[in-house]
Amino acid sequence: MTLPVLPHWIGGVQRPGTSGRTAPVFDPAFGVPTRLVALADEAELNEAVASAKAAFPIWRNLSITKRQQIMFRFRELLNERKSELALILTSEHGKVVSDALGEITRGLEVVELATGFPHLIKGEFSENVSTDVDVYSTKGPLGVVGIISPFNFPAMVPMWFFPIAVAAGNTVVLKPSEKDPSAANWLAALFTEAGLPDGVFNVLHGDKIAVDGLLEHPDVKSISFVGSTPIAKYVYETASRNGKRVQALGGAKNHMLVLPDADLELTADAAINAGFGSAGERCMAISVVVAVEPVADALIEKIATRIAALTIGDGRRSCDMGPLVTEVHRDKVASYIDIAAEDGATVVVDGRGIEVDGDPNGFWLGPTLIDNVPTTSRVYTDEIFGPLLSVVRVKTYEEGVALINASQYGNGTAIFTNDGRAARRFQNEIEVGMIGINVPIPVPVAYYSFGGFKDSAFGDSKAYGLQGFHFFTREKAITSRWPDPSQGGINLGFPQA
Ligand code: NAD
Repeated sequence: MTLPVLPHWIGGVQRPGTSGRTAPVFDPAFGVPTRLVALADEAELNEAVASAKAAFPIWRNLSITKRQQIMFRFRELLNERKSELALILTSEHGKVVSDALGEITRGLEVVELATGFPHLIKGEFSENVSTDVDVYSTKGPLGVVGIISPFNFPAMVPMWFFPIAVAAGNTVVLKPSEKDPSAANWLAALFTEAGLPDGVFNVLHGDKIAVDGLLEHPDVKSISFVGSTPIAKYVYETASRNGKRVQALGGAKNHMLVLPDADLELTADAAINAGFGSAGERCMAISVVVAVEPVADALIEKIATRIAALTIGDGRRSCDMGPLVTEVHRDKVASYIDIAAEDGATVVVDGRGIEVDGDPNGFWLGPTLIDNVPTTSRVYTDEIFGPLLSVVRVKTYEEGVALINASQYGNGTAIFTNDGRAARRFQNEIEVGMIGINVPIPVPVAYYSFGGFKDSAFGDSKAYGLQGFHFFTREKAITSRWPDPSQGGINLGFPQA
C-alpha cells in the first residue's frame, strides 16, 4: 500500500517534498504507519526561509488593527475546530482525546494573550529630557524566526511561540517533530484561513538537516527550541555561535515532595494524574515521588490501588491513558523496569503485559510504580519520559530538598503539604523554575512565562508571557529634537541633558 506523504507548508500553500527523503508516521494505538512525512533538504530549507523573508516587510508594516483582526479570527477558528485537531493529535501521538483537547486549550491561552499584542509591544515616551528633546522607544520584530518543537505537544509547544512571534510582526519557519507532524500543517492552513498573508507562517518538516539549516541560515534571526537536553544544548551553542538569539528548553526529571502532614488521598490522585497523564510523556510529568517518612507505605498503597483502576487503550475510546509514541520509545521505557530490579528497587506495579482496550500491536506500556529507587540508579538519574513513577524515601524535609536541588534538571517540582510555612520555605529554597504547592503540574498560565533552571533550559528567556514578547522583539531608543534655526552652534563636548 502506498502511504500519503505529508508536504511542507510554504508560502501559504502545501509544498510537496522534493528531497526524496521521508520518515514514517505511526498511529501508536495500532502500531502501523499511516503516512510518511517529507524530510527537507537544504534547497527546501532555503525556500522556506526565503518565503518568510519575503513576507516580512509586508507583515511587519501591516497596521496593528489588521494584524490584530487576523489574530482574533485565528483564535475563533481554532476554538471552533479544536476537536478536529484533537483527533489528529491522538492519531499520531497517542494521548487520549480529552488530554489532546487540554493541550490545545493551553495553546489557545497563548493565542489569546497574543491578541493583546498592541498593548505588549508599546514603547515608552519621555518628553523634554533636555530642552526641546524627547526620547522614546519602539519594540519591533526580529525578522524570520525559527521554531523547533518536540513530539510530546505537537500543538501546544509550537503555540507557546508562534502566536507571539507572528503578532509581534515576525515571520516564522516551524520545524515540528517528525513523529507527529500533521498538527503543524493543520494550524498553518487554519491561520491562512484566518487571513494571514502567505509566507508569514511556514512549516518545514525534517530532521537534523532541517534543524542544522535553521541554526546556520543567516536570514534566521532567532531560534526557539524545545526537546531533550543534549539536543537543546547543541542547538543553544550552535545557534548562539551563529549570532542568533536563542531559547532552548530541555529535558526534565520532576520531583514531588510529600510531607507527612499531606492529605494522602489528594496526593495520591495528584501523583496518578501527573505521573501517568499522556503516558508520562510530558516535560512537567512527575517522575519521582519523594516521600518524607513515615508516609511512603500508605501513599504507595493508595497509588497502587488507583493504578489498578486505570484503563489503558486507544485514546479515541474512553480510556485514561493511551499508548507511547513509538515502539522504540516504548521498549526503552520498559527496559528501565528491569534496570530497577537489577539495581535493588522494588517493582510494585509492572506495566508490561497489561490488558488494553485497543489493538494488540499498539505501543502499550501500562502505569508502572517502583519503590525504593536508589538515587544512583539510572532509573533515578535518567529522564525516562514514560509511565514509570519512582518513589524515593527520605527521612526529613531537608533531605528531600537537598535531593531535588542536586538534580541535573530544574524544570518543575511540587510540594504536597498542609503546612503553609513549609510550603513557603520550599518555594524559597528549591532551585527549580516552576513550582507547584499542592499542584502537581505547575505549567504557568499564558501571562506568566514557562521555563526551567539548569539543564532544563538554555538561554535567558522563558517561553510566552512577557518574556515571550521580549524575546520576539527588539527595542529602538530614539532621541528626537526639532530645533529652531536659532538654536545652532558648535559644541564638541559629549551631549548632556
Ligand atoms: P528530541 O530532542 O528528540 O527532538 C526535539 C526536536 O529536535 C525535534 O524537532 C527533532 O526533529 C529535533 N532533533 C532530534 N534530534 C536532533 C539532532 N540530532 N540534531 C538536531 N535536531 C534534532 O525530543 P523529543 O523526543 O521530540 O521530545 C521529548 C523531549 O522534549 C523530552 O526530553 C522532554 O523533556 C522535552 N521537552 C521539554 C519541554 C520543556 O519545556 N522543557 C517541553 C516539552 C518537551
